Amino acid sequence: MLLSVVVPCMNEEDSLPALVERLIAATDAWSDDTEILLVDDGSTDDTWDGICLQSQKHPRVRGLKLSTNRGHQVALTAGLMAARGERIFMLDADLQDPPELLSDMMAMMDRGYDVVYGRRSERKGESWFKKLTAHGFYRILNRLSDVPIPNDTGDFRLVSRRVLNAVLDMPERARFIRGMFAWAGFRQIGIEYVRDPRVAGETKYPMSKMIRLAFDALSSFSIKPLQIATRLAFLTLIVAALMLVYVFWSLILYNTVAGWASTVLVISFFSGIQLLTLGIMGEYLGRLYIEAKGRPLFFIDEQVGGVVENTPETMSKQA
Ligand code: UDP
Ligand code: MG
Repeated sequence: MLLSVVVPCMNEEDSLPALVERLIAATDAWSDDTEILLVDDGSTDDTWDGICLQSQKHPRVRGLKLSTNRGHQVALTAGLMAARGERIFMLDADLQDPPELLSDMMAMMDRGYDVVYGRRSERKGESWFKKLTAHGFYRILNRLSDVPIPNDTGDFRLVSRRVLNAVLDMPERARFIRGMFAWAGFRQIGIEYVRDPRVAGETKYPMSKMIRLAFDALSSFSIKPLQIATRLAFLTLIVAALMLVYVFWSLILYNTVAGWASTVLVISFFSGIQLLTLGIMGEYLGRLYIEAKGRPLFFIDEQVGGVVENTPETMSKQA
C-alpha cells in the first residue's frame, strides 16, 4: 500500500534536512512504499535547491515547484493532487507537527477510520497573540458554521484515498482544507498532540494571511454573517422607534430643534451599520467573483523525482 506524505514549503531551506530525516525515519516501516512530496510554494530562498538535493539523496522524495507563491492551502492542494498513495499524510514543513505520530494514525486507520486528524492540546513556542486568536477563531467558526469543524486542528492529518478524492472533487478556490475534510464526512477521529515550536525560521503566516484564512473559512462554511444585516436592521428599527418618541417629546415639550448631538450620534450609528453590512456583502461578492472567473489554482514550474502521472495541464484543469 503506497503512502504519500505531502508537505507545503515556503522559505523552509533550513527546516528541510531535519524534516526529511525525521520523515524518512517515521516512514521507514513502509520504506519503498512511500513517496514524500515537497511542494515549493514560490520560495525566495534556496528551498527548491534543497528539495532537489533531498530527492537525489533519497529516491522516495519528490518535488513540485509552483510558478509563484499561492499560499499554504493552495500549495497543499497541489501536493494532494499529485499524491498517488492509498493513504495520504499531510504536515507542515517546520516540524511543528511531529511525523512520529504517523504510526499511531496508521493504527487508527487500520481500525477503519478514513480521517485521523491531529488536535493540538498545547502549542509551544507561539506568541500568546497567536494562541489567543487561534483559540477564538475556531470557536467563532464553529458557532457560525453549519459543518462541525473540530476545534484546534490544523491540516496535520492522515486521510484515505476515498476521502481525498471527495475533497479534490470540490472545485472551490477559497480553500480551507481542514474544513473541507470535515465537510466530506466518512469516519473521522482526532488524536491529541503537543504542537512543537518551529525547528527553524520564522512563521510564514503574518497577520494578513491569518485574516485571509479566517475570512475564507467563514465565507466557505457559513452564510450567517450575511444574515447579520437582517438582525442589525431589527435592532436599528427599535433604536429608530425610541428616537421618534424622543424627538416628538422634545418638540412638544420644549418646542425646539432637537439636539445636535443626538443627530450626529444617530447618523454615525446608522452609517456604521450600513458600512459594516456592505463590507460583509462585499467579502462574499468578491469571493463569488473570484470563483466565477474559474482560473486554475496554480501552475507547476518544475518537478523532480518520480514520474508524475498527472501532467501539470490536467492538474491545473482539475483545479
Ligand atoms: N506555507 C506555504 N505557503 C505560504 C505560507 C506558508 O506553503 O504562503 C507553508 C509553510 O512553509 C509551512 C506551513 O505552510 O510548511 C505552515 O506555515 P507556518 O509554519 O509558517 O504557519 P504557523 O505554523 O506559524 O501557523
Ligand atoms: Mg508552523
